[in-house]
Amino acid sequence: MSPPLRLARWLRSSRTWIILGILAPLGMLALSALMLLELRHDAWEKAERSAGSLLQVVEGDIARNVEIIDLSLRAVVDNLKAPGLSTLSPELRQLLLFDRAVTAREMGVVLVLDETGNVVIDAGALPPRQLNNADRDYFQAHKRRSDLGLYVSRPVVSRLLGVPVVVVSRRIDKPDGSFGGIVLGSLKLSYFSRLFERVRLGPGSAINLYLRDGTRLMRHPAIEGDIGGSIVETPSYGHFRDRRSGHFRGASVRDGVDRYNAFTQVADLPLVLNVAVAIHEIEAEWRNKAVVIGLSVLILCGLTIALSVLFGGELRRSAAMQAELARLSRTDSLTGLANRRRFDEAFARASNAARRSSRPLTLLLIDADHFKRINDHHGHAVGDAVLRKLAGSLRAGAHRPEDLACRVGGEEFAILLPDTDLDGAVPVAERVHRAVSALSIPRAGIDAGSVTVSIGIASGLDGGEDTAERLYRRADAALYAAKKAGRNQTCTAPSAQQADVAPEEKLRLQTA
Ligand code: GH3
Ligand code: MG
Ligand code: MG
Repeated sequence: MSPPLRLARWLRSSRTWIILGILAPLGMLALSALMLLELRHDAWEKAERSAGSLLQVVEGDIARNVEIIDLSLRAVVDNLKAPGLSTLSPELRQLLLFDRAVTAREMGVVLVLDETGNVVIDAGALPPRQLNNADRDYFQAHKRRSDLGLYVSRPVVSRLLGVPVVVVSRRIDKPDGSFGGIVLGSLKLSYFSRLFERVRLGPGSAINLYLRDGTRLMRHPAIEGDIGGSIVETPSYGHFRDRRSGHFRGASVRDGVDRYNAFTQVADLPLVLNVAVAIHEIEAEWRNKAVVIGLSVLILCGLTIALSVLFGGELRRSAAMQAELARLSRTDSLTGLANRRRFDEAFARASNAARRSSRPLTLLLIDADHFKRINDHHGHAVGDAVLRKLAGSLRAGAHRPEDLACRVGGEEFAILLPDTDLDGAVPVAERVHRAVSALSIPRAGIDAGSVTVSIGIASGLDGGEDTAERLYRRADAALYAAKKAGRNQTCTAPSAQQADVAPEEKLRLQTA
């Protein structure tokens, strides 16, 4: 079969449409799933990028402010060593020690404490405000160790300002290296809250600032009693402690919300900045799209499958109908035997096959005897019933699968016996006679033996010069001879060669 024909046949098959109708939606589903995964990936990439740049901006701001305070503190530490400082008037000393940075809005106080914790120099007041801060953790820490450098305290409520602050401090050494006090600057926590408020976050997300030891300095959005608390016991602290920066995903111990956390150390300071974005907020937009796309694709797939199944079923029904029509067009409606059209096709095919394979083909022509009388005596309907019974007798006679019994005319039948010679055909004719002789229709008064047939047999085509037409004519002549010889008998036609050699003896027929 040529490729275009094969394609056309493939497209007409109901199975093709059902398979296509299932494969196409599956492909559509796979593509949409890939697309949704890609969209989700994009959503995450966007969230990671914006968390990263947020960290960078906020970190830069905090680092710059702390650096400004530190520069002031260093200047104080250095300038305190200047010779003759103590001989200057308090006003001049104040001018020399503190630059304008200490007046910045977020800056709390800048103080110098002596080794006992008493305020000895106060950037904001002359004479200095009386205070002792020896009990503060930063004072104790510097007193204990000389190598702390810049120390960032836990959040405390400033004794001078009455507001929460973080104290940044440096140690002052005496000329002999012993503890000589500290210089401190305080940074109001309001600085962090104002900075964090400028950051736009979803309601489930947060930004946090921790000390390296796990103390929370600030959280936005703020939660009552949260500032100053420790997160050392939480799994997040493990990440902050072990790395300078990074990201991780985890459920919050406090509210159970799953969040994406990006964090970084603030410059070289003992501070960790963390942005925690709720996963459901990262995926919210994507989820809405996924629902719309997913539902649409599912509906489309369902429709496609349903239509394919319907179409496939329709194709199957029409194919079955066509097959039935084709069968009916080759079947005799009265007897159910093959009709004339099918006989002609089968006879042509069998003749060609016999010639090609040099195998014999035998044709039996069968005609009901005096059928007109049956019709006349019993009526046409009984005649029809007899014809149906005769068909049964023919089937009983020719029972090989390749044998074909046909109704070729009113009360005329034929049996095609491929691959069979005369010797093989005679028993078939005998079986037909036997079956016909047993035929009876008691309710119509037709008894066994009252219906008979005459049969003409011709065999040939096996390599000789015979043709299908001549074979038919010889069988017909044999049938005529059987009629002439008194009916209810079989005559066989001489072979084609014999018929050709002695044309005058064309019908040297033998009665069976
Ligand atoms: P012969 O022995 O010489 O064949 O005699 P015959 O009467 O059978 O032959 P003839 O050809 O004269 O008549 C055949 C009859 O078969 C004529 C017709 O009424 C009848 N016949 C043909 N087709 C049908 C059919 O479909 N139904 C019925 N009931 N009768 C049919
Ligand atoms: Mg007839
Ligand atoms: Mg007849």
